[in-house]
Amino acid sequence: MTEIKCPHCRSSLALDRIGVHFQKFCSAIPTDTAREASLKKYNQFYTQLQSHSRGEMTTEELQNEANKLFLVR
Ligand SMILES: [Zn+2]
Repeated sequence: MTEIKCPHCRSSLALDRIGVHFQKFCSAIPTDTAREASLKKYNQFYTQLQSHSRGEMTTEELQNEANKLFLVR
C-alpha cells in the first residue's frame, strides 16, 4: 500500500485514508475552518491521486504536490 506523509502532522497515511484523515483525525489542523479548507484542497489533490494511480506520477512527486498544495495559505 502506497503511503505519503500528512503535510500537516507528518504521520504516514495510506492514499485512500487522506480525505478522512483531514476530515476527522488530523491533530495538526487547528480549526473547523482550516479543516474545511483542507477538504477543498483535497478535492484538487484528487486529480493528482488519479494521475499517480495511472502511473503518471511517482509517489515522491505526489508527496511534493501534497506539500505544495496543503501548506500554502
Ligand atoms: Zn495529519
